[in-house]
Amino acid sequence: MFLKICLYLLTFAVIGAGATGVELVSEMHDFIYRILLVHGGPQIRRDEIKIVLIEAANRILPGVDENVVRTIEKKLGQKNIEVITSAPVTKVNKDSLEIGDRQIPTYTKIWTAGIKANPLSASLPFEKDGAGRIKVNQYMQVPNYPNVYAVGDNSSFENPTTGKPLPATGQVAIQEAQAVVKNILYTIKGKEKRPFKFMQLGFAVTYGERTAAARHKYE
Ligand SMILES: Cc1cc2nc3c(=O)[nH]c(=O)nc-3n(C[C@H](O)[C@H](O)[C@H](O)COP(=O)(O)OP(=O)(O)OC[C@H]3O[C@@H](n4cnc5c(N)ncnc54)[C@H](O)[C@@H]3O)c2cc1C
Repeated sequence: MFLKICLYLLTFAVIGAGATGVELVSEMHDFIYRILLVHGGPQIRRDEIKIVLIEAANRILPGVDENVVRTIEKKLGQKNIEVITSAPVTKVNKDSLEIGDRQIPTYTKIWTAGIKANPLSASLPFEKDGAGRIKVNQYMQVPNYPNVYAVGDNSSFENPTTGKPLPATGQVAIQEAQAVVKNILYTIKGKEKRPFKFMQLGFAVTYGERTAAARHKYE
């Protein structure tokens, strides 16, 4: 019984291997081992602690550069973090979680599998994407409402280069906001608005204390 409780207490599951999930498991690993080193004593062995990162897609960090992903996978392996891909979590129980028929015993589950639109903007009578974000046109305007703009995490701008909505990140929100300000000024001055063009400035994912894999600027 004691061993069973230890297994449940010492297994930590993070669901969703986007940047947040990857950064979280890395930091958890370093934090837990640092604590163990100082306070662990003989009661808890390193190999009794299990950190599991679970992802529904067939790879971690969907949409992120392959080289960054390979570096991160290697580092997570070195930290003995178990990564399970193509594994949508189907049920969460008090002392376990389920991936179809497979059960992972754990008391600690951390959900990092994406964000949801704000309830207020989700309730507005505008067209939304699958994540409940307000769809916007090339000028970041809400279709049929030329004086209404949406930017940042609550908006869904389809990148013409990829045909996919831009991700909900800080650099997207900042660039969208700048584009909207300029277009409002153009409108006031009676000038033609300019379509928004996103420029990927780069991407960094940390994997523990003071270390990160990054790609600076995309072509
Ligand atoms: C854990 C985590 C890590 C992240 N790391 C990165 C990263 O490394 N790099 C990166 O580029 N992006 C990162 N992001 C994403 C980034 O934080 C967001 O994309 C960005 O903050 C979006 O900006 P925003 O202004 O659209 O929304 P927010 O920053 O969420 O701002 C919205 C604001 O509106 C307020 N608000 C909500 N409802 C109302 C209301 N009814 N009335 C008035 N105010 C309201 C909220 O309180 C909030 O302050 C991360 C996100 C998370 C959750």
